[in-house]
Amino acid sequence: MSNHAMENAATILKNARCAIAFTGAGISVESGIPPFRGPGGVWSKHDPDKFEKTYFQRHPQEVWPLLKEIFFDTLGRARPNPAHLALAKLEEAGRLAAIITQNIDGLHQAAGSKTVYEYHGSTRRMECLDCGAFFDSASIPLDRLPPPCPACGGLLKPDFVFFSEPIPFEVHQAATNLARQSDVCLIVGTGGEVMPAGRIPHEVRNAGGKVVEINLYETRYSYGFSDVFLQGRAGVLVPELVGMVMGRG
Ligand SMILES: [Zn+2]
Repeated sequence: MSNHAMENAATILKNARCAIAFTGAGISVESGIPPFRGPGGVWSKHDPDKFEKTYFQRHPQEVWPLLKEIFFDTLGRARPNPAHLALAKLEEAGRLAAIITQNIDGLHQAAGSKTVYEYHGSTRRMECLDCGAFFDSASIPLDRLPPPCPACGGLLKPDFVFFSEPIPFEVHQAATNLARQSDVCLIVGTGGEVMPAGRIPHEVRNAGGKVVEINLYETRYSYGFSDVFLQGRAGVLVPELVGMVMGRG
């Protein structure tokens, strides 16, 4: 990657009227969270069918220990990395309107980001499938599985999108509307393989906006779609870019 490309990216963000970030698993890898897809990913070790909602409802005794291991033991230990922190600074400086994330780890909020659209929900909340109440996951002890609903004793489900579950409509609509009003999309750590979230950069582009991409590997966005593609680690490139946008580098 050339300095020229980094300067171009910084100029695009500096000139933005309304910039958004669109993030995925790649931004959290440096926080120790394994990606779900691909070799070594969670779905290469665990059967995704067990995370289908109907299966979960029928076999909570079997699935809850897996949920705890994959989503609460690992994610519970994870901390935001310099890429999350840099995006929070960009928002604080008034140069980033929002983050639209496919991640369910809550690390953007942990970094201090305020406006975060969680396309696939979050491990930070649980929903009772019996009484419909929501709870902060941190308030639910996981020493007894499945954990009973504090209100009714019913079955709690982490509030992220399981397989075969629809994307929360309000989040999809709000994120799409925001993307259509934005003139810059900063993609970090995602190739947009999962639909409909993967359409977000297209919404910005279709409205005449520009796309800056930071990814470790080439994606289907990288050539012919992104205006600037910066290839490398998010934890290095995002802080560097944000530093330039904010006039320190
Ligand atoms: Zn309940």
